[in-house]
Amino acid sequence: MKILNTIKDMRIEIKKARRNGSSIGFVPTMGYLHEGHLSLIKRAKRENDLVIVSIFVNPTQFGIGEDFESYPRSLSRDSRLIESAGGDIVFSPSILEMYPRECSTYVKIEGDITKKLCGASRPGHFRGVTTIVTKLFNIVAPDRAYFGQKDAQQVAVIEQMVRDLCFDVEIIPCPTVREEDGLAMSSRNTYLKKDERSAAAVLFKSLSRAEEMIKKGERNPLKISDIILNNIRSEPLSKVDYIEIVNNKTLESIEEIKGDILIALAVRIGNTRLIDNIKLEI
Ligand code: AMP
Repeated sequence: MKILNTIKDMRIEIKKARRNGSSIGFVPTMGYLHEGHLSLIKRAKRENDLVIVSIFVNPTQFGIGEDFESYPRSLSRDSRLIESAGGDIVFSPSILEMYPRECSTYVKIEGDITKKLCGASRPGHFRGVTTIVTKLFNIVAPDRAYFGQKDAQQVAVIEQMVRDLCFDVEIIPCPTVREEDGLAMSSRNTYLKKDERSAAAVLFKSLSRAEEMIKKGERNPLKISDIILNNIRSEPLSKVDYIEIVNNKTLESIEEIKGDILIALAVRIGNTRLIDNIKLEI
């Protein structure tokens, strides 16, 4: 497995792969990998000849006062895990490599899709995401790019950007990988103290309760939101940021639970902001 730090070296490898007729699968990450990331890499390995994994804690998608500085980082640990999952190349550029001083172009979706859910509580976040993913797509030129459904809004935003800007890449959403108690795996789970870690199970528990009620026939999104809210409030260490029940493709609010829906939430457990969601087809 190769570890590359510059765009120039990455392009040399991409050109080689293209000459050989190899298909390229790409998994963009911010590192500190867990089984969720590894599931994306393994899937990319099954579906492509060459798998490239980027590790880059992207400063432009963090807001002021967010956890850019404290975000966990360990390239040696990540490299071992990527190799064991079947990755072929790790692309781990510096901040200056990705954002040279003269850099002043950003990619921003104008529509509402980036303004709701996480976009409302993290202004500028998706502009950072669409900018870095554009740059990485331009460097790696993958046939397929793999994203986790855990970040459902990110998937919807990237799919919109790929359509709008005619990127020649197939976006493959992959299911959320969870801990035994249902907590969605996340690099940020490492921030949780012991009592917070047990409290964090309330996110998936409340989503599962909502799913149960919908399966029993409840179709009113307000009632479902209330059920989730009460569930989360029963956990004293938690503080709700948002609970949204929306159309899974457009992320627009819905008045009745039907079709392809997404129930998404963001909750603070102590100082750590966690997100989770479930997708349902009714
Ligand atoms: P991150 O390093 O958090 O930016 O995540 C990199 C990619 O891994 C994104 O596409 C995430 O959606 C995906 N991912 C993160 N956590 C999980 C998980 N628990 N299950 C599946 N995919 C995940």
